[in-house]
Amino acid sequence: MKPKRLLIGHAMIIEEYEAKSLVRTTRTSLFSWAEVYLNPYQGCEHDCVYCDGKAEGYYMHDDFGQRIRVKKNAPELLENYFKKQGFFPINREKTSTLTDYFPNLKKSADSIGKGKFVLFIGGGVCDVYQPAEKEIKMTRKLLQIAYDYKIPVYFLTKNNLILRDIDLLKKINEDSYACACFTITLADEKTQKIFEPNASSSLERFEAVEKLREEGIHSGIYFYPTLPFIGDTVENVTSIYKTAKEVGAEFIYCWGLTLKPGRNKNQFMTTIQKHFPDYYPKYKELYGNEDKYGNLDSKKFEEMGLVWPEIRGYKLGYEMGLDYSSTRYVPEGRIENNLKIAELLHRLAYLKSFFIKSSKYEIRQLNNSAKILNELSRGFSTLNLTERNKLDIDKVVLPYLEEFISVGKSKTLEEIKKQAYDSVCAYLKSKE
Ligand code: SF4
Repeated sequence: MKPKRLLIGHAMIIEEYEAKSLVRTTRTSLFSWAEVYLNPYQGCEHDCVYCDGKAEGYYMHDDFGQRIRVKKNAPELLENYFKKQGFFPINREKTSTLTDYFPNLKKSADSIGKGKFVLFIGGGVCDVYQPAEKEIKMTRKLLQIAYDYKIPVYFLTKNNLILRDIDLLKKINEDSYACACFTITLADEKTQKIFEPNASSSLERFEAVEKLREEGIHSGIYFYPTLPFIGDTVENVTSIYKTAKEVGAEFIYCWGLTLKPGRNKNQFMTTIQKHFPDYYPKYKELYGNEDKYGNLDSKKFEEMGLVWPEIRGYKLGYEMGLDYSSTRYVPEGRIENNLKIAELLHRLAYLKSFFIKSSKYEIRQLNNSAKILNELSRGFSTLNLTERNKLDIDKVVLPYLEEFISVGKSKTLEEIKKQAYDSVCAYLKSKE
């Protein structure tokens, strides 16, 4: 394949190619309530040192940070996908007839009204607002199509180039829902540049959150990966949470660092050795287990007296009124109660597994039941007892469902949040 052009600055090679597929569906979780993901890029000019996308398991090219591959037929693939779902470009100023969009009208008509979903443009392992997007404008084209088809959207980026598309984000948000989030890991700019050399500065990202919130667009912060000894310090965690609150972020999702054996870990360790030689032996020990998912050795973590960043983060978030995840948006044509109950169950599972240490059985049942509710084609509250019993929802989960259906919200969730807060306070005290 011939490179399309060479960008002199970072010597970036941009290549275009015809992709066979674009979208993938996924299970929802606290990470994101989006159900359909797409990414028109492969490779990322931001070239973050800790980037998980460099792991061999993702089958990305070796020069991930220097060569960007663009799916040039992404707009066509996205339109085809929407049409297949039976959606119509209702916002497009066009006088075409319905059959222009649905040649096989009878077949498509059967699926109209199936219900929409939140579309995550990006995510995965390449940033859709990396500098190359400035000229390629592929993300903007896809966003325009989402607007045309009235599809709610979700973004996660490290580049304030997203502000270029604020016009479309606003229009989508007025129609349904647009949430534009930023990953922010390090408050100190010098340190941030070591790990995220070509992304917008953390300050620029915070400013972008502020701007988006002023425009009424949903926005939150992904504080991850939190780097042991560097990003998980009291100073850094507090600074990120305080600034997030000041700029009006709606939530902070906090998570630790994984280092998958191979390219991902090697590049990271080389950087640590160069810039933080004192931490190098500690990192070697912490990630010496060569876990295939990149998880650190939790026993070593405890022995070193480290504090899980999620714990510090949860305490601060609770005190500041900053949620630990975005609030689920219910797309057009979906059953609100089912999706909201699924959100509740995921939230309970998170609190109970990380901060309260409930039984693994209960957590598994909460997550399994959330999946069942997500996929249920009838409202759970409309089912009779026999129908409910057929659903494989465990009795440990039923009280949460019944409370939500009778009260319209969960008082128990508020109690569990408080219980989690008390538990993390006690844990942090024990570490002093
Ligand atoms: S912005 Fe994301 S995808 Fe891009 S290099 Fe950084 S971590 Fe990887």
